[in-house]
Amino acid sequence: MIHDKITPELIKSFSTAIKSTRTTGQEQGFHIFKDRHGNLSPGKTFYGEEESLQLESPQGVCYGARIQGDFHTHVFVKPLRKAIRENTGKRPSINEIRDVAIELMIWRYEEKGIKEEMSLNTPTYDDALKAILCKYENITNGMMSIGIDLDEYNVEFWTVKENITDKDYRKVLNELGRRYKREKSGESNSQAMEKWIISLFEKETIDLRN
Ligand SMILES: [Zn+2]
Repeated sequence: MIHDKITPELIKSFSTAIKSTRTTGQEQGFHIFKDRHGNLSPGKTFYGEEESLQLESPQGVCYGARIQGDFHTHVFVKPLRKAIRENTGKRPSINEIRDVAIELMIWRYEEKGIKEEMSLNTPTYDDALKAILCKYENITNGMMSIGIDLDEYNVEFWTVKENITDKDYRKVLNELGRRYKREKSGESNSQAMEKWIISLFEKETIDLRN
């Protein structure tokens, strides 16, 4: 259980990053280190622009400590508030923004048949692809975690399973290559999670209050 390995320092870093994401509308994130007892603690926080966050390479910041994975936030409040305001002329409350975010999420995942498994804290498809790449290349232990500015208490952890095969890895590389090409040619990639990749992860949600 990840829950038992989280240090107070890590909880504090999650909370700070989530709250500050709501105020600034910028993604934030940090690497998560694992000590020899398995306890998890945060590295230095990095700040992104809107929805693009680049963590420095783990090798550059970890000084030999094992990198378990990373954490980053996703931004909902600022862009949704703006969109709702433009549509209705009213400034929405956080609850109203959350309702819209949930509606959009259901609409997004219903046709993929994974609506029941998804939450607002679900990583993007790119997040999942990169986590597997990092695990396979031995850069991290394959853990990623997501916090959102609409929910200051829950952090969702996705950890790559140990039994991932070369075939899975090849599929991940193909997907990353295909998406990179699309991006280069000016097409946009859908960020919605894909059904096939979910089964390669273990999921755990942590409530920062207990
Ligand atoms: Zn993400």
